[in-house]
Amino acid sequence: MLSVCGVAMKWRYFTSQSIACFTAAIMLAGLSIADLSVDPSGYILYCPCMGRFGNQADHFLGALGFAKGLNRTLVLPPWVEYRYGQPKSIQVPFDMYFNVKPLRNYHRVITMEEFMENLADTVWPPDRRISFCYMARGGSGSTGCNAKEGNPFGPFWDTFRIDFVGSEFYGPLHFDVHHSNVAEQWQKKYSPERWPVLAFAGAPASFPVQPDNRMLHKYLVWNDSIREKAKEFIKGSMPRGPFVGIHLRNGLDWTRACEHVEQSPNLFAAPQCLGYRNEFGRATKELCFPSKDTIVKTVKSIVRKIKAVAVFVASDSDHMLDTLGSALKARKVSIHRLEQSNPHLDLAILGLSNHFVGNCISSFSAFAKRERDARGLPSSFWAFPLNTTPGDGDTSAENTMHDEF
Ligand code: GDP
Ligand code: MN
Repeated sequence: MLSVCGVAMKWRYFTSQSIACFTAAIMLAGLSIADLSVDPSGYILYCPCMGRFGNQADHFLGALGFAKGLNRTLVLPPWVEYRYGQPKSIQVPFDMYFNVKPLRNYHRVITMEEFMENLADTVWPPDRRISFCYMARGGSGSTGCNAKEGNPFGPFWDTFRIDFVGSEFYGPLHFDVHHSNVAEQWQKKYSPERWPVLAFAGAPASFPVQPDNRMLHKYLVWNDSIREKAKEFIKGSMPRGPFVGIHLRNGLDWTRACEHVEQSPNLFAAPQCLGYRNEFGRATKELCFPSKDTIVKTVKSIVRKIKAVAVFVASDSDHMLDTLGSALKARKVSIHRLEQSNPHLDLAILGLSNHFVGNCISSFSAFAKRERDARGLPSSFWAFPLNTTPGDGDTSAENTMHDEF
């Protein structure tokens, strides 16, 4: 195909055939013409500079809703990751984990790699690179956004050789495009003609994700490689039949976070079960760091309820394999985990389980919960509803407070 094109290009200039070949070559390179033409409505760029994957995913959904509200193309940033012992963050291209195409069913998006390679020189030349922040951020550069000060800020923009020539404080504008006319105000203050690119020092979104943006998770789909690996694990390493997926968030950082939970009744992702205004109670220690007893009782009760043959455990620290194994021995239920830590594969497998039990406070759990809600699959949380004993009636096994899906 390409060699035929080469001949055609050589001998005939600007024929429809050569244009077709050029188009084909672009397609083969994984791009579509739509990506390469400049969006006259402008772009939104940001650094997912806060937290790890769970936080970044919450922010992503908010940024997607915001970009739609402003009618600007969203530039899909890489995921920011931290490796133990390394002083600089690592930037993992967005599509290493997710498919870009399903997002386009909701709104215009382009990966940051494609944007920087093909469009930045035209729409965002180096001398026009201004960083946006609500107000001045601390840093040696004194009064500006200092968008590259510290980790991951510096390493993130450096990945694309981006330097900023100035700062713009957008306050008091905000990101809640669902409940105000703020989108109009953004357009008025920053027209796409004068400001083709709004580059934010942090995500233009709130944490945790706003209820209105939660349902956007349905457009966030694991890429084929991750989906295949998840299916392969389930098929190859687990017995055939229904299985329960559980998330145990119990590392040292979590122990510390949970110590203060009573002073922050809606800590981290807690609104996913307690409601955004604590309609369903205030966070408890048990909700944040469930006891072994709660975990065993809950798992037993759900195993019984869905007649599970296996349990898949995802954890950042203690998978409790022995405890769960002996508790479920009589029922001949096997317990599984990934041999090597892989957070994204863990999440993809949790997403495929027949029932998921997560930690209400954890934004990592929140990812699996949202994905499942989007597909109508059942989930519940440890120690929720509050003040119930696992296994009492049906309430602890089902929690479907979110009805927007
Ligand atoms: P949160 O702190 O629980 O709200 O979620 P974050 O995603 O912000 O940070 C927790 C991080 O710990 C994750 O991004 C993972 O890197 C790691 N982690 C937490 N739970 C698991 C798990 O079940 N499996 C693996 N492999 N890693 C996890
Ligand atoms: Mn976190």
